[in-house]
Amino acid sequence: MAETVTNWAGNITYAAAGLHRPHTLDALRALVAGSHRVRALGSGHSFNEIAEPGEDGVLLSLDALPPEIDVDTAARTVRVGGGVRYAELARQVHRHGLALPNMASLPHISVAGSVATGTHGSGVGNGPLSSSVREVELVTADGSALALARGEERFGGAVTSLGALGVVTALVLDLEPAFEVEQHVFTEMPLEGLDRDGFETVMSAAYSVSVFTDWRAPGFRQVWLKRRTDQPLPDFPWAAPAAEKMHPVPGMPAVNCTEQFGVPGPWHERLPHFRAEFTPSSGAELQSEYLMPRESAAGMVHALDGIRETVAPVLQTCEIRTVAADDQWLGPSYGRDTVAVHFTWIENTAAVLPVVRRVEEALAPFDARPHWGKVFTTPAAALRARYPRLADFRALAREVDPAGTFANAFVRDVLGD
Ligand SMILES: Cc1cc2nc3c(=O)[nH]c(=O)nc-3n(C[C@H](O)[C@H](O)[C@H](O)COP(=O)(O)OP(=O)(O)OC[C@H]3O[C@@H](n4cnc5c(N)ncnc54)[C@H](O)[C@@H]3O)c2cc1C
Repeated sequence: MAETVTNWAGNITYAAAGLHRPHTLDALRALVAGSHRVRALGSGHSFNEIAEPGEDGVLLSLDALPPEIDVDTAARTVRVGGGVRYAELARQVHRHGLALPNMASLPHISVAGSVATGTHGSGVGNGPLSSSVREVELVTADGSALALARGEERFGGAVTSLGALGVVTALVLDLEPAFEVEQHVFTEMPLEGLDRDGFETVMSAAYSVSVFTDWRAPGFRQVWLKRRTDQPLPDFPWAAPAAEKMHPVPGMPAVNCTEQFGVPGPWHERLPHFRAEFTPSSGAELQSEYLMPRESAAGMVHALDGIRETVAPVLQTCEIRTVAADDQWLGPSYGRDTVAVHFTWIENTAAVLPVVRRVEEALAPFDARPHWGKVFTTPAAALRARYPRLADFRALAREVDPAGTFANAFVRDVLGD
């Protein structure tokens, strides 16, 4: 009987019959060349059918390939294999005295899958994780290799590609000198704090700032500041310092969270919210996220405050972050400095979906682009209107993958094919 494959959250069971795990690049090439429909699966942390090849398609993982992490200290770059996860990459990079500029909340996610969906951390000056990528190496439908590098016109579609161009076998990322970060958590920031002093001011208080709320009451339950120790100590007059170590979801054990109370530590042990040593094999949650122009922040907060009695019953936590504009055509922060609002829902799809729709109605005036890897119901036609370079991506996908080997139902819907 074929292996049943699900995503991390368990809300998606892939229709494809089993998961192929080639041990060599040649075996991967042969598998791709011999299949008419293929999708790569990363660490499976997406919450929708973006990775689904369909029941007659091939779902493949790169986790049996040798985990290449090749740091070039002189060039300050790293070449990383298509199956590698951020936790392992970050450890290796740090060992060489180097760093990635930013990380997502969880280090267990794969690099290739993360940049394919526009995954991001926070920081007014920090782009999404894709902005570190300088080169992408793909296996295309006939099994041949294709490399696309920064500076080429086609690179705009190469990184945040939704997996639609081919199997990413390696990425080259820019690095910078290693740095230390302190994490300071504050509690109970009133809504008026943002209104009076401005969203940008609050979110600029440190290198990376996240604001959490459960929408059970007005205002924000927690603010997490991640300060680089080579930058000034922030004055944060908007909320009180936390008295105990916090988890973003009220009631969850904070022991799984990265160090707080301003204890300095290496970048990769502070920028994620969750510790790499704590490996959740599955999660009792669903997630959604919407990315809007930064100037919409105050309007977005008030729109959500207006529906908080609808949102709160199915919510575990809501996080507001910032992302600097990037130039990936399908990047949810493409062309605009962004405010991102994230929802960790309870794991009940039937209860959550009507609330997701209500949130999308409330955020519609702000031209909200959903996170590609999370739950959303925004119609594809509306999505297409929010991506000015979508036609360029469609043309690139047709050029690189003319037979549509990598175009699953999710991608065809988004591209309008
Ligand atoms: C607990 C948790 C915390 C999260 N935190 C954040 C966060 O802080 N910020 C944020 O923005 N997102 C966050 N996410 C979302 C997550 O980053 C994305 O879902 C991301 O896609 C995960 O990478 P993955 O490897 O698991 O992707 P998968 O779900 O495995 O795949 C996603 C897409 O990438 C493609 N893909 C994967 N590998 C390859 C490859 N080698 N070649 C070609 N295509 C490939 C797949 O085909 C699919 O289309 C979080 C998710 C979870 C579960």
